Amino acid sequence: PSTINLIQRRSDFPILSREVFGRPLVYFDNGATTQKPLCVLQTIERFYREINANIHRGVHKLSEESTREYENAREVVRKFLNARKTSEIIFTSGTTASINLVAYSFGEVFVHQGDEVLVTEMEHHSNIVPWQLLCERKGATLKVLPFDSNGALMLNKLPELLTPKTRIVAVTQVSNTLGTVNPIAEIVRIAHSQNIPVLVDGAQGVKHGKIDVQQLDADFYAFSGHKIYGPTGIGVLYGKEEWLERMVPWQGGGDMIATVSFAKTTFNELPFKFEAGTANYIGAAGLATALNYYSSIGPDIATAYEDELLKYATTKLKEIDGLTIYGNAPEKAAIISFLLNGIHPYDTGMILNKMGIAVRTGNHCTQPVIDHFGIDGTVRASLAFYNTFEEVDRLVEALHKVKEMFG
Ligand code: PMP
Repeated sequence: PSTINLIQRRSDFPILSREVFGRPLVYFDNGATTQKPLCVLQTIERFYREINANIHRGVHKLSEESTREYENAREVVRKFLNARKTSEIIFTSGTTASINLVAYSFGEVFVHQGDEVLVTEMEHHSNIVPWQLLCERKGATLKVLPFDSNGALMLNKLPELLTPKTRIVAVTQVSNTLGTVNPIAEIVRIAHSQNIPVLVDGAQGVKHGKIDVQQLDADFYAFSGHKIYGPTGIGVLYGKEEWLERMVPWQGGGDMIATVSFAKTTFNELPFKFEAGTANYIGAAGLATALNYYSSIGPDIATAYEDELLKYATTKLKEIDGLTIYGNAPEKAAIISFLLNGIHPYDTGMILNKMGIAVRTGNHCTQPVIDHFGIDGTVRASLAFYNTFEEVDRLVEALHKVKEMFG
């Protein structure tokens, strides 16, 4: 019965009824960004039409309403993540900004010459490069936890990689290329046993089952609105208050200050200390609608359905002669990277496109993952709860055509 519910929900997404090259769109690029339900579009339009005013600044009615919507959105995010306090919820422009914030503001205080930062081999460039910049600035060393041939992290190597010099561990909850779901709670437990905080890149994980930052005991959790049915340009950094309080501001500007003089500036309290400049308050309201929408479906129900789709797609794809799937970890989200033997991923992607099927090709901003396998890139189908078994069949049929054309 839950599956029937989800099929009905498909019509909440206006874009899914469009055609591409004369065929109904099959949107399998949800890892890059998800489509938006009508309620999110309506929130954004209503906000611009009826409320729009800058927040925290005006004495007037519109500004007051705008501010209330923005702070309500913060409460929606807090509840969604099950954070303790709204002061632990910082709005950013996305996952990348959230990670850069921590790499700078945490790094400035806690990372010094000779220290170490640990990431994993399956991180998105957004969870590698900010740490490299930090390490370069501070004279620290970046260390890497590898993954095995199935694309599962080699957790047995974690204890030896953590040293008295490790200042932070940064790890993705779900790999955007391999689909691997990492055992975050266990990683946190191991790191915490040595008093090392953990940043979780939740860009893909945020839409994989119910998220509870207190249960995960993550010190930081970053995600983007656009990957969970919300607007682009809005994201979240959750951070434990005890860390955020001790971190220096990242960007300076309006709203993040308490007092400014040329002699000395003092900073606003949390979370405003980390929100410089005019906030994306309409994006935040859109995100709140998206999270409420997703909660109303039920993250566990959506994920269970995506798991079924994944199982079906994996079985069907494996039946295609000469097709290799990259990422076969026991715990996987609905992301499938693959290659057809002897056919460049870009060629496969182009032909799928002509058949109305949207996939992503290339390195998916995870060059080390691609290098691990010694390949040029992959074709990636990333699914969402609004995708159907029939759409998977269309992909399989189209891949047979690709083989014919190049065979
Ligand atoms: N981390 C992961 C695992 C991702 O999949 C992405 C987006 N592809 C990011 C970080 C970066 O997210 P954004 O571009 O929204 O900042």
